[in-house]
Amino acid sequence: MKKNLLKFVIILFAVTCSVSAQNSASEARVEAILQKMTLEEKIDAIGGLGFDVRGLERLGIPQLKTADSPFGVRRDSRSNVMVGGIALAATWNTKLAGETGLQIGRDARSRGVAYSLGPGVNIYRSPLNGRNFEYFGEDPFLGSRLVVPFIQGIQSQGVSATVKHFLGNNSEYWRNTSDSMIDERTMREIYLPIFEAAVKEGKTGAVMSSYNLANGKYMAANGEIVNDILKGDWKFDGVFMSDWGAAHETLGAVNGGLDLEMPFGANMNRGKIMPLMKEGKITQATIDDKVRRLLRAAIRFGWLDRPQEDLSIPRFNQQGRVVALQAARESMVLLKNQNNLLPLDKQKTKTVAVIGPNGNPTAILGGGSASVAPFQTVSFLNGISNFLGTDANVTYARGLNNYNNLANKTSFTTDDGENGIKAEYFDNLELAGTSFKTEIAPNANHGQFFEFGSMASGDTDFSFAMFNPAKPSSSRRTGNFTPKTAGEYEFFVQQSGFGESNYRLYVDGKLVRDTWQIPIADTESMNFNFDAKPHKIVLEHKASGGLSQPFIRLGIVQKGTWVEVNALEMAKKADVVIVPVGFDATTEQEGWDRTFSLPPGQNELIQQLAKVNKNVVVVITSGGAVDMSPWIDQVSGVVQSWYAGQEGGTALAEILYGVTNPSGRLPATFERLATDNPTFNNYYPATDSNKVFYKEGVFVGYRGYEKNNVAPLFPFGFGLSYTTFDYKNLSVKPLNDRRFEVSFDVKNTGTRDGADVAQVYVGNKKDSKVTRPIKELKGFEKVFLKANESKKVSVILDKRAFSYWDVSAKNWQADAGDYDILVGRSSTEILLKGKANLKSEMTSEK
Ligand code: BGC
Repeated sequence: MKKNLLKFVIILFAVTCSVSAQNSASEARVEAILQKMTLEEKIDAIGGLGFDVRGLERLGIPQLKTADSPFGVRRDSRSNVMVGGIALAATWNTKLAGETGLQIGRDARSRGVAYSLGPGVNIYRSPLNGRNFEYFGEDPFLGSRLVVPFIQGIQSQGVSATVKHFLGNNSEYWRNTSDSMIDERTMREIYLPIFEAAVKEGKTGAVMSSYNLANGKYMAANGEIVNDILKGDWKFDGVFMSDWGAAHETLGAVNGGLDLEMPFGANMNRGKIMPLMKEGKITQATIDDKVRRLLRAAIRFGWLDRPQEDLSIPRFNQQGRVVALQAARESMVLLKNQNNLLPLDKQKTKTVAVIGPNGNPTAILGGGSASVAPFQTVSFLNGISNFLGTDANVTYARGLNNYNNLANKTSFTTDDGENGIKAEYFDNLELAGTSFKTEIAPNANHGQFFEFGSMASGDTDFSFAMFNPAKPSSSRRTGNFTPKTAGEYEFFVQQSGFGESNYRLYVDGKLVRDTWQIPIADTESMNFNFDAKPHKIVLEHKASGGLSQPFIRLGIVQKGTWVEVNALEMAKKADVVIVPVGFDATTEQEGWDRTFSLPPGQNELIQQLAKVNKNVVVVITSGGAVDMSPWIDQVSGVVQSWYAGQEGGTALAEILYGVTNPSGRLPATFERLATDNPTFNNYYPATDSNKVFYKEGVFVGYRGYEKNNVAPLFPFGFGLSYTTFDYKNLSVKPLNDRRFEVSFDVKNTGTRDGADVAQVYVGNKKDSKVTRPIKELKGFEKVFLKANESKKVSVILDKRAFSYWDVSAKNWQADAGDYDILVGRSSTEILLKGKANLKSEMTSEK
């Protein structure tokens, strides 16, 4: 025993010595290069070159590529598309997170990419955030455990991860101007931990700023958070780069910890920095520190010592496909399974109808910079049809007409009785002065959706759009809409831009929707009761420019007429109806928030299908919760499929037919009503302000639902299985005065193999010095069990598991006393209870 210990100490010493020798060797190399650089060259190095990081030929430093690659690499070629971030989080599988990261790293390496721009890890505060699909859900502990292997996977391939968006980017509306007001404790306990784990354990090579401000300062110039916490407390020695165009000033950025301004050194350039150096406001040491970080990354990942592209790695990556499929299988969450309709029986489902706008094509990812053009995809329709082969009849209908056609079918007349709608165009944002163009347009359908995805093919020159932004403009459309019959009409409005876009709608002289200040969602709808007379419609729109040209459309559909008649006929004849609904890259995307409600028409589709067939299984594509209240009681099954990546269709078919036993669990609480969300009252800024106060504090997600005593529709950690599990024999064993081992047995008591996610929560101490959540996730394990098999699960709880951030001591603090240890299958299904006693108060380092 003693001998072993000695051996261990010697090895540890040797490893530490060799690591520090390597470190000092690479630091020496950094210094040697730095010495040779002129001030001008150093300043040039900290401003980007589009999607590249500048090289310096004179000293043999290559120009380095970056690429958006949270779930697939968008650079120079099509690429594998893995599941979206929240889907990966729903697997609760740390190993799979590592394998996914590794495949992305491999794809990046094969394309010569040095910095992989991902993963995104902002906390899910509200389902409205249009980028939730990229992130890891609502819980900092779950996200932390996944981000570490994910980063290690990427970086094992000689590619740096770039964790983003640091910090407080928890919504997309006003992402360039909103100011996230987060108190210190909430920041430390909820919003920082995933980044902290990425830095301290994942050793990420880079971190990307967010666009927004946090606590009064732009994040690309926020020394309090970047210098003090990221680089100070956490000792991050990598590169802190700006999001594309997120830096707005020179002095604040340079002194606030920004190391690399992307896409260009618009603020960090010779002309702007050198005068400030002369005035003594920027020091040489500050510039050197930034360049050191860039060089350190280049040496660490081997970029100075090998060609960037490894041509021996296949870009059409078969191993990546296998991982993408496995992640899709493990990410889908079975939410409802009335009377055990699922798994389906091949023998009994001879006619399967797939009806819904997301059946084919299926959205593999939401929209924005995460978009990747895949080599190929398996849609839900493909997947089901491939699975059943010629054994069954798989019928298909979209079920709903698309918004473009519906807007084109919506007719207006002008005040002069002409067919069409009068459109006036202005070259400013406020419809001011005389219009530069007026026309009678056939419909209210102007411009085109800006599809990032189209650029993702690698066929389009991204930089073209990037450097030719549209000019700010506004427009007004005026026309009369005459319903054929009196009744309820749904108006849908769709707009898009990679820049801000807002609209106002007047009906019969009344302002009925005003998003002129805050762009709420790119696609939304509202209902009106109309008589059969003409109704005056005025639609005003402004687009602040950005990457895309103005796009706005308005369509009007009479309630009850959304659904294609053929689809209902088809549904009547089917043994089961699979209904793929939800969002896609046009309705849930970067730069925009989305609605809680499903996109226009989809509720009606589900309701009508459920009326004609009792075996309806809804499959939802979304980055988080949607409003299921209009139909949840009318359908038999619900599968949450997130954005399931290129192999999603295969995974869905396997789950529907029980070849794969669902093991995805919710990484975010699904509320019943929009108003239930803990951020509902303060998600938008206070009037006349850009400040978004995170008033719910640490009570985000299940922490908030529990505090507010609001029962969710589906709780955090929830997901059904085709088998059953039993939990017993809890033991909480102190390992020393600050570590506990929590162990228990999980048994598969059903007849099918399957996996469960055993969750360990630490309960709030009753007499805690600060108000704490009732319980918090501090451990979990995904356990794979054959039918009847049992396994012991063991989870270590360390001091951090009991701690809160002590604002006065500026440190983590755990009060002495008894803590409940709660083991269960979701935040509301607790099966075992024990206690851990902390003998004395504990503080720990930042
Ligand atoms: C996004 C980043 C992305 C960058 C480069 C920005 O608009 O917020 O996540 O990495 O563009 O495409």
